[in-house]
Amino acid sequence: MKRLKIKVTGRVQGVGFRPFVYNLAKALSLRGYVLNSSKGVVIEVEGNRVEEFLQRLKQSPPPLSDIERVIVEEVSPVGEQDFRILESQEEGSFTHVSPDVSVCEECLGEMLDKTDRRYLYPFINCTNCGPRYSITLSLPYDRPNTTMRIFKMCQKCQSEYDDPTNRRFHAQPNACPECGPSLSFRLINKAFKRCVEEDPLQSTINLLNSGAIVAIKGLGGFHIACDALNERAVEKLRERKRKSNKPFALMAASVEIIKRFVLMDDREQELLESNRRPIVLMRKRPGCEIPEVVAPGNRYLGFMLPYTPLHYLLFYSPPGSPENPLFKCLVMTSGNLKEEPIIHRNDDALERLSGLVDAFLFHNRDIFMRVDDSVVKKELFIRRARGYVPEPIVLPDDGPEVLATGADLKNTFSLTKENYAILSQHIGDMENYETLLFFQEVLENLKALYRIKPIAVATDLHPGYLSRQWADSQALPVTYIQHHYAHAMAVVAEHGLKAPVIGVVFDGTGYGLDGRIWGGEFLWVDTEGFQRLAHLDYLRLPGGEMAIKQPWRTAVALLRGLYAEETEGFLKRLGFFERIDLKQIEMVLSIAENEQFSPFSSGAGRYFDALSSIVSLVDFNTHEAEAPMALEAITLDGVDEVYPFDINEETIPMVISLRRCFQRAVDDYLQDVELEIIATRFHNTMAALIRDTVMRLKSRKGEVKEVVLSGGVFQNSYLLSKTFEYLADTGLKVYFHKSIPPNDACISLGQAYILRERLKRGMNV
Ligand code: ZN
Ligand code: ZN
Ligand code: FE
Repeated sequence: MKRLKIKVTGRVQGVGFRPFVYNLAKALSLRGYVLNSSKGVVIEVEGNRVEEFLQRLKQSPPPLSDIERVIVEEVSPVGEQDFRILESQEEGSFTHVSPDVSVCEECLGEMLDKTDRRYLYPFINCTNCGPRYSITLSLPYDRPNTTMRIFKMCQKCQSEYDDPTNRRFHAQPNACPECGPSLSFRLINKAFKRCVEEDPLQSTINLLNSGAIVAIKGLGGFHIACDALNERAVEKLRERKRKSNKPFALMAASVEIIKRFVLMDDREQELLESNRRPIVLMRKRPGCEIPEVVAPGNRYLGFMLPYTPLHYLLFYSPPGSPENPLFKCLVMTSGNLKEEPIIHRNDDALERLSGLVDAFLFHNRDIFMRVDDSVVKKELFIRRARGYVPEPIVLPDDGPEVLATGADLKNTFSLTKENYAILSQHIGDMENYETLLFFQEVLENLKALYRIKPIAVATDLHPGYLSRQWADSQALPVTYIQHHYAHAMAVVAEHGLKAPVIGVVFDGTGYGLDGRIWGGEFLWVDTEGFQRLAHLDYLRLPGGEMAIKQPWRTAVALLRGLYAEETEGFLKRLGFFERIDLKQIEMVLSIAENEQFSPFSSGAGRYFDALSSIVSLVDFNTHEAEAPMALEAITLDGVDEVYPFDINEETIPMVISLRRCFQRAVDDYLQDVELEIIATRFHNTMAALIRDTVMRLKSRKGEVKEVVLSGGVFQNSYLLSKTFEYLADTGLKVYFHKSIPPNDACISLGQAYILRERLKRGMNV
């Protein structure tokens, strides 16, 4: 007989770990105890089958757990008679909080079983599934510390909750139709009065069947939904919600249905079906029935599977009954106004969304932490939120507690503690008061949940950023970190890289040390600082911000730089005068050389903008990166040509000129070369100049072995894979983000990491 003391760390609390241990120990006739401690779960088991216990613990832990380490120690047997779950020891340092997860198969089975007491109950959940982060008010994760505290469990629910052998043992959101949350319906547009029945869910289905727009309260906030195959309904929604071409997310009941609309590989299917349930961007099937207005000019459609019981019920017709939901696929876009955060409270929704929707489907389980849907494109994160946050990013070693406030676009913040960084969910663009409030709300919550007291704060160098002004207003020492340096260091942090590396950062906008806008950067980085080794040549942005919204401005300025007095002739042949107001063009030409009105930018994104307008794809961006996405959308496989470019090695930093590239692209366009070919050659050129520049830097910096890639431009899948392909020849190891987005959402991690490493080394910050 043997007795083992086992410590398990990782996400092992609030995920059914103790009952799992209890049942396993009982099954193997072991004695001892299990308890939650500050560092994880502590177990002592005694008996003949302790080795088997250990093996099964490691091999098949509860679905929601995520074991980091198991430490085993043999102790002397004490001759206990029973196995017990002991009261938690006092909570200490780092306690993992589980992200929200989709409803499990077992709960779904019960929900669709006529004889089950939770038949068709939209809030069914168990220890292995359901809401977590979004309903957690504080730790420890117990019912009184969740928004479920207002619902008193009925006898039946309580006895499940108390029974260690039950799947709902200590399932904090446990509920049933008798004691738990319920739905309610509110009609706004009287034109749909005939659709309303007593049952809120059926009323919602009726409205959606009739082409109405309905706000539906979900897990992390409200969605605005309509039948995605009803073109008029989607047009109406686009008109009411946003007057831009930004794509809408979609939800369908099964992978089989989604496959009718997109090309899906095994990896994409796996992501769709994972219990994190992100929106997965997949290539549209040629001739697919989803109306163009869902994602205008886009090569991808973003789909997710249902993730709450309520979502499943929206698509469900009981077997044998007539088809009830006639829709096959729903638009499910975030319930918010313009660029404000997602709305999560019933009264707020009613007040702010009534002008957008025909009805509301409410429920009365409060959302405490709002959290948007996550968006991924294969291995690439576009938005990291529901299902992933607040899962920490594991850093190589321990360090002090710091805060980093990120950048203003696609803002996230990061907190560090021990060997973890907690990256907040997607906060949004810091351009309005609502978003700032959301930032503070999430920050206060994560600081409290993880018991973090930052001793210093890192932020972007940009004096105009709200995220920086906020940092400046705190009573903490502030460190300013250049935007692209933070980008590169985010990759370094994720991969735990040590030596200095070359960072290739291609994005749109970041404040540079010279006060100009940077964004096509080759940096030499480590935690102490960075050097700008090379960059794309500066372009002029006539009208500054206006040029980012209107790529034709950048295009005209670029053409002027190429053709001087011949510019007008070229503009004419390229069709600019047919598309853009003559006065506007003249105005842009007149300010193009004036730095005050036409700031310099080395942003890689601006080069994509310019080409997109030159070949008359997109002259006006109605949402971020529309012009570059339109170019990516027409790239072809199997085109290998590259346009010429020049790297000026005389200067420090080196400057990469795309003049000859653009001259050739213009020639091609005027000679009616297919747009697809031009777009592909241009992408290849970008990848080739990255390779050639990196090669030159390598020959100068002999000791370099690693390259990291970051920046929103690498959301372009064609460019990313070409860059990897070309860099394979350089003999360098290439790293890219693995669990956070390459866009500005990653900035806060890079900032936090730099600050924390500097503090560790006692550097003055
Ligand atoms: Zn379940
Ligand atoms: Zn109940
Ligand atoms: Fe950036």
